[in-house]
Amino acid sequence: MRKTIIVSNRLPVKISEKNGEFTLQSSEGGLATGLGSIYREGNNIWIGWPGLEIEDPKQQEKVTKQLRQMNLMPVFLTQEEINNFYEGFSNETLWPVFHYMGVYARYEQSYWDAYHQVNQKFRDIVLQIAGPGDIIWVHDYQLLLLPGMIRTEMPEISVGFFQHIPFPSYELFRLIPWRAEILEGMLGADLMGFHTFDDTRHFLNAASRLLPVNTTANVVSYNDRAVVVETFPMGIDYDKFASLGNNPEVQEHLKTLRENFREERLVLSIDRLDYSKGIIQRLQAFELLLQLHPEYISRVVLYMIVVPSRDTVPQYKELRDDIDKLVGNINARFRTLSWHPIQYFYRSFPVEMLSALYNFADICLVTPMRDGMNLVSKEYVASRNNNDGVLILSEMAGASKELSDAIIVNPNNLGAITRAITDALNMPLPEQQRRMRQMRQVVSKFNIHHWVKLFMTRLAEVNEMQQNML
Ligand code: UDP
Repeated sequence: MRKTIIVSNRLPVKISEKNGEFTLQSSEGGLATGLGSIYREGNNIWIGWPGLEIEDPKQQEKVTKQLRQMNLMPVFLTQEEINNFYEGFSNETLWPVFHYMGVYARYEQSYWDAYHQVNQKFRDIVLQIAGPGDIIWVHDYQLLLLPGMIRTEMPEISVGFFQHIPFPSYELFRLIPWRAEILEGMLGADLMGFHTFDDTRHFLNAASRLLPVNTTANVVSYNDRAVVVETFPMGIDYDKFASLGNNPEVQEHLKTLRENFREERLVLSIDRLDYSKGIIQRLQAFELLLQLHPEYISRVVLYMIVVPSRDTVPQYKELRDDIDKLVGNINARFRTLSWHPIQYFYRSFPVEMLSALYNFADICLVTPMRDGMNLVSKEYVASRNNNDGVLILSEMAGASKELSDAIIVNPNNLGAITRAITDALNMPLPEQQRRMRQMRQVVSKFNIHHWVKLFMTRLAEVNEMQQNML
């Protein structure tokens, strides 16, 4: 029977180990929810790294059995592979270049070798499982070589690829020493998807400049195959965020927030610790606000959550220290006896608390320097059942292409962010509602289920087209 195989770096599961026993818990991320309708069905399967280093073959066997019951198949990685493939090439080479931070990129042969070898490891597991007629959907920048590797072994099989982070302009992409090999790997897919038209255009441009290919509007002809490249902006689980407001736990958090912030307006900021998120610039803009508009002292609070991430990597640790310092300075400079301008949390929160904050915050301030999509902005919109509240959104986030009723800012323009905050604080309710309603319609319609369906349907169409061309 035909099956669908999802492949991503991480499996949608949290595993913990205690005395040799493993506990597995499904992840609640948006992508996992969207793809849940696929991989949980029949003999479909999701292949990926379980997120835990397990060396002992007996233990590996044990965990594999448990995962298989959830339609999951592990690819085990050694610590060295995690260092060089994941933290190395994926996060210290591709991540910075693809987010336009070329100066942060490291070009290490050993990283590249590990990246190639781990993509082969994924390929070997795919080949164990895939049969003729199956559909394979590969996800994201950790596995750019995998579509090509699968294609070499199974020329007829259907492969889709989606990239969740930006694809940079050619001038950035060309910096990577292994740029041609990367493009060749990606072009093993039949259908390739990006979040925005700009990413799609950048990919087509890079392919036509670096490889002997023919490109027309959105098709790359390569090795006698037609690869379709299109834009699929990813959505969120709208219903989940729209309905969470009624959850008793969320209500409880909301009550506490109301009691703690009686007089103040709340500006919400939520990110993973990353230099692409523009956290420092956001803090500087907030500082400027307090400096230029002392009338907001004691009246506005920046509620800032930074979720720990990669903080063993020097650049991330430095960023964390810089944030600590700046928050400390701003709080020391502007605080009063009863008010702190910034409530800063360096940790993650359960979704019930996030929902309460999305519901409570007057403004959601999302100003990344670069972001493939940015889900926080969409989650805020989905949570605003009263249609009020203002979203301030960076034009460098993929989401800004869809959420054009946000106040759109250039994240490098501190003055513009500051003005956006004052505009948001003073925006009349009818205008808030007009904008929020529009955005809610978009987020509701183009939700995660819609996105999965659209991609899968298009992949089937592309395959049919290719069959007819043979
Ligand atoms: N998030 C979370 N716990 C937190 C804060 C955030 O699970 O304490 C989630 C948030 O709900 C969102 C995701 O993390 O779904 C962040 O996605 P986004 O696209 O904004 O940024 P990314 O981290 O993927 O670059």
